[in-house]
Amino acid sequence: MFGRRGLDVKTPDQIRKMRVAGLVVGETLELIRGQVGDGMSTRDLDASAEEYIRGRGATPSFLGYHGFTGSLCISVNEEVVHGIPGPRTVRDGDLVSIDCGAIVDGWHGDAAISLIVGGRLAASARDLALIDATEASMWAGIAALAVGSALYDVGAAVEDCITEAARADGATYGIVEDYVGHGIGTEMHQDPQVPNYRVRDRGPIVRSGVTVAIEPMITLGSAETDVLDDEWTVVTQDGSRAAHWEHSVAVTDAGIWVLTALDGGQKCLGALGAPYAPLA
Ligand code: MG
Ligand code: MG
Repeated sequence: MFGRRGLDVKTPDQIRKMRVAGLVVGETLELIRGQVGDGMSTRDLDASAEEYIRGRGATPSFLGYHGFTGSLCISVNEEVVHGIPGPRTVRDGDLVSIDCGAIVDGWHGDAAISLIVGGRLAASARDLALIDATEASMWAGIAALAVGSALYDVGAAVEDCITEAARADGATYGIVEDYVGHGIGTEMHQDPQVPNYRVRDRGPIVRSGVTVAIEPMITLGSAETDVLDDEWTVVTQDGSRAAHWEHSVAVTDAGIWVLTALDGGQKCLGALGAPYAPLA
């Protein structure tokens, strides 16, 4: 069912099905977060994710998507998104972004995290600040979602959060504009696109049952990107490191349900004073 300007609206039952897929994605990312370590290959991490996804009765949505060969996208350091799992090993101090998608009963979940291999002790302060700022901007964008509000207010909230974080951190942060958030449901990518920056148009009005993936990508320098010769891996033009966070989110009259967060978003939405509204 499509509303005006292409905003696809899901029924409560459909949103519950998306929650099942979202939990598989969230669980897979937590599994990989716990496994990633110095000397591990991105191929091994990918194999572990695929095994977990299939073990939960789900299908990895990235695998075979336009010919993609992984179940995860694993993007290291200056790679922003769409890194292909392979023989490369990650090392302590690497900034790794892990993006995961899964399908259950035809319904999709899509989420991403960024982390430092070896944890905080192996991390530089500026990488940690970048990761934290990117995650905070995602939550600010999610918290801007409400029935009756304009969809592109998400991007304004992300941008304002990053501007403030750059000031507080004494950093230069670039907001990638070449890749944006999106509707999600029976396809991983549905209309509309959701920019991570302020645009002139405020976009369609959010209605109850809208489901979108919010996914800011922030760099430690320029926001300009290139695609490598493998035709997938997106890198920053200036070689600066990048972070990427993503959640799939449902908006209803009661508030927000973060479908790919294990706690449904309760903790982070609560911290922002945004209404946490799981469906029973
Ligand atoms: Mg994703
Ligand atoms: Mg996505």
